[in-house]
Amino acid sequence: MSEPEKSSLFPTYARYPLTFVKGEGSRLWDDTGKEYIDLMSGIAVTNLGHAPKQVKEKLMEQLDQIWHTGNLFHIPNQEKLATILTDNSCADAVFFCSTGAEANEAAIKLARRYSQKVRNSGRYEIITFEMSFHGRTLATLTATGQEKVKEGFHPLPEGFVYAKYNDIESVKSLISDKTCAIMIEMIQGEGGVLPADESFIKELDELCKQQELLLIVDEIQTGLGRTGKLFAYEHYGIEPDIFTLAKGLGSGFPIGAMLGKAELAEAFSAGTHGSTFGGNPLATAAGIATLETLLNEQLPERAAQLGTHVTDTLSAKLAGNPLVQEIRGKGLLIGITCTQAGADIIKEIHEEGVLVIPAGPNVIRLAPSLNIPQEDLDKGLDIICSVLAKKASALV
Ligand SMILES: *Cc1c(COP(=O)(O)O)cnc(C)c1O
Repeated sequence: MSEPEKSSLFPTYARYPLTFVKGEGSRLWDDTGKEYIDLMSGIAVTNLGHAPKQVKEKLMEQLDQIWHTGNLFHIPNQEKLATILTDNSCADAVFFCSTGAEANEAAIKLARRYSQKVRNSGRYEIITFEMSFHGRTLATLTATGQEKVKEGFHPLPEGFVYAKYNDIESVKSLISDKTCAIMIEMIQGEGGVLPADESFIKELDELCKQQELLLIVDEIQTGLGRTGKLFAYEHYGIEPDIFTLAKGLGSGFPIGAMLGKAELAEAFSAGTHGSTFGGNPLATAAGIATLETLLNEQLPERAAQLGTHVTDTLSAKLAGNPLVQEIRGKGLLIGITCTQAGADIIKEIHEEGVLVIPAGPNVIRLAPSLNIPQEDLDKGLDIICSVLAKKASALV
């Protein structure tokens, strides 16, 4: 379907003229029956492909039992998912919510409350980064280091300042007696698939320890195996005090999580934070099945191997293409940076039956499912490279 003649929706999204009616594994079908290879996974959400059997079965089982009770009661699935997450990460405690923005809100609130109520320091300011993305609620859009998401929404909440990514001096210059935390993505996803330098993250971690600042890592896009480790912070040999998850956690069922170290737990005593839907039996069932599948099938390791394959293939095939500047990313979160805006190129790749999405001003972003068959992946890469070759030859 192209544009509907009349829509009753707020026009918040610039949508591609495509309507998908079925998804299975790494394939999607539109309403004309045309088949697509999905190399974007609904923005790093369907990391196990579309309609993964294990998650579907677990959800069907849960649908027959109980859907919702609210957080006034114990929810065994929540305990179980939290245990899987803490057993497999540096965190000791988990708060469940439904979206990424809500997970980051929880992280911001926890950092402030810990500083003010546990450390009695009165600190509240959080250093974030230029070109970051942390969500669309008032606090998280303020945390986001991009002007375009803030226009027309003033006044914004106080307490955020913006450092240059991969620039430790810029961070140091912003630290004051008000600073309580630093919040960062290990790879800036929406900002253009830009990985943090290893030395920068090591120095940042040191700085946080020296100055007693909390390190918050936004793993909403990079988490859950996407970059070749279960969590992207593992690449850097650090342990954040707090990190956040959402996108891939429920394989498409909405669920988010904020995770933190044990010493932060007392700051979030009963009544300090909450969410009606957060971690409900259905969402946590989807989360349990998703994590068990990721771990049992060693999908983070597969993402690492396939990621190297993708980067090697693209580097070889796109060498000398004047439209292409750089191939970057980690695991299966990969960006092809172009010398011009990517919108036209992306549209043509879609027409050829492959789904990719933009990131930043000029990056083509690839985020295939972590269990994509290699034939599908290779076919998709072939098509991307041939569109880029065609576009480059049209330049001269
Ligand atoms: C998508 C994303 C968010 C926001 O998640 P929502 O579920 O859309 O609220 C926050 N941070 C990062 C890094 C993201 O990629």
